[in-house]
Amino acid sequence: MSKLPAVFLLLLASLSCAGPTPARAATAATPEAAPAPPDEVPAQDYPGTVQLSVDATDIARRLYQVRQRLPVKAGPLKLWYPQWIPGNHAATGPINQFAGLVLSAAGRRLPWRRDPLDVYAFLLDVPDGVSMLDIEFQSLSPTADDQGRVAMTTELLSVQWSRLLLYPAGHDARRIRFEPSLRLPQGWGHGTALRTRETTEDGLVRFEPLALVDLVDSPVYAGRHFKRFVLDGNPRSPVHLNVVADAPELLEAKPEILEAHRALVVQADRLYGNRPFAHYDFLLALSDQFSGIGLEHLQSSENGTFPGYLTGKAPFTDNYLLPHEYAHSWNGKSVRPASLWTPHYNTPMQNDLLWVYEGQTEFWAWVLATRAGLYTAEQSREVLAATAATFEHRAGRRWRNLQDTVYQGIIDFNDAPAAWQDWQRGYDFYDEGVLLWLDVDSRLRELSGGRRSLDAFARGFLGGQAGKGEVRRYDVGDVVQALDRVQAHDWAGYLRERVEGHGAQAPLQGLARSGWRLVYSEVPNAAIADAESDGGFADYRYSLGLKVAADGKISEVLWESPAHAAGIARDMQLVAVDGMAYNAERMNRALAASRSHPAPLQLLVRQGDAYRTLQVPYHGGLRHPHLERLPGSPDRLTQLLAPMK
Ligand SMILES: [Zn+2]
Repeated sequence: MSKLPAVFLLLLASLSCAGPTPARAATAATPEAAPAPPDEVPAQDYPGTVQLSVDATDIARRLYQVRQRLPVKAGPLKLWYPQWIPGNHAATGPINQFAGLVLSAAGRRLPWRRDPLDVYAFLLDVPDGVSMLDIEFQSLSPTADDQGRVAMTTELLSVQWSRLLLYPAGHDARRIRFEPSLRLPQGWGHGTALRTRETTEDGLVRFEPLALVDLVDSPVYAGRHFKRFVLDGNPRSPVHLNVVADAPELLEAKPEILEAHRALVVQADRLYGNRPFAHYDFLLALSDQFSGIGLEHLQSSENGTFPGYLTGKAPFTDNYLLPHEYAHSWNGKSVRPASLWTPHYNTPMQNDLLWVYEGQTEFWAWVLATRAGLYTAEQSREVLAATAATFEHRAGRRWRNLQDTVYQGIIDFNDAPAAWQDWQRGYDFYDEGVLLWLDVDSRLRELSGGRRSLDAFARGFLGGQAGKGEVRRYDVGDVVQALDRVQAHDWAGYLRERVEGHGAQAPLQGLARSGWRLVYSEVPNAAIADAESDGGFADYRYSLGLKVAADGKISEVLWESPAHAAGIARDMQLVAVDGMAYNAERMNRALAASRSHPAPLQLLVRQGDAYRTLQVPYHGGLRHPHLERLPGSPDRLTQLLAPMK
């Protein structure tokens, strides 16, 4: 999965890291103990094939009508609605959008009840003589994003099969066979990695039968405005970009943008050395209505981003999205932490190695985006500077180590905003993961005298799987051994220190070893400016320690920043700066003048019905992060980001 819109999460941060001496986690042989094995399931095929028919034509009411025919035998039966969806890293199956369940056999309705200990489970008794169960229900797609992810609009929709089926409990998802069909609004196009058996003129698509695990891994994107681009036409493993959009003109891709996506495929080939899939379909939704998404699959990925993505009218910071999901085909789908692998969707997944699964994917997304030309070298460094500044100011690192952040999705799956997000920390295993793996890359380059790098780990460990078969599972010991094969070193201790440590110091050693340092100036950072203009806020996190929406509402305050020390909290209204009504221009002027101005800034804030004037003794000027070359050091960063030949 991709972290939610990069423009928000790229830029989470806090000011001031001064604090107690770093504590060190208790030592262990490896960064995390080996996980318990998942539930046992019988090594037998489920008898028969489940017929699944989804009608997605009710786009006005935004609902999917589901009908299933499930072979059964008489006796007690438990049906599961999928709960732990791969790539979600939390129990996010939208059971709250499930409605209208009717179970019947031969036209006779059968009573059901919910398992009191598991709300995702439906219990029934199959009467004697019944061998086929008819199941009907609806999946109600949110009509607005305050209800959840909007997946169906009047112009386009996504079909995530895990939302649209029940399956018999206790069986291996690789051993339950499904035969799916999908009815789409007439005239709509669609993209998917599924193999089509038949398409009729009235919009019915019948797909080839396949295992439940592959069905759940093969969504469909459909739309009134649809276009399919060839990224690599090689028939042995073709790669396509399938796009649905709010309007037809959004499909008129700029040639250089398409070329960069083709280069992404080439650069991934050169990095990993093979493809773990027989064919690959990027599914891309360009929409203001459809909720943003990034979700990985082995042979496809779900990507929802800005409408102007292909026409060059979108923030460049989101250009890491498709590289991220593509990199997951290797890191996550064909090679996966053993603790994250489960035999079905209703047993908890363990997130302990997400700093590899997501952290290294985020690292490769940034690298591949640059090598492919989706970022210029300058943009790439600005993105890295923004990430580095975030973690230079991450006060929450003192109490919460990187390892603990992997549980954020479970803690936070309803996406409620955090009052103090830099202190609480969020999905830091993504972005701190970039700094972690940059650190490892630069260390490999240093130790090997420039002969080896994390490229060799990617090729040996992530690309080593021939693919098209079983998921290869690993634990942290395997990661350590694979790094050791690239370059002998105490990688267990090295990773433990970085993953389990509580240092107040930012994890910027890899940046320095790559020949660059983080500096601040009055010149805006391009990645942050991109996010500001898209999000309609002004970012003063590295000066005063806050972000302010255009209307003056404070959307973030960094822990132990000047703003925090002055008593400012999120959701206060910033009414005036030095006696004048707040706007970003006045604030910029006041901050720029603060260096030579001996008086404190005066901020008038409103919280509820109470007004207060706060004195903020800040004299640091405007501060925006950038990278600067460390004179005389080898430029390993430029080597890392250069396209592979
Ligand atoms: Zn991801």
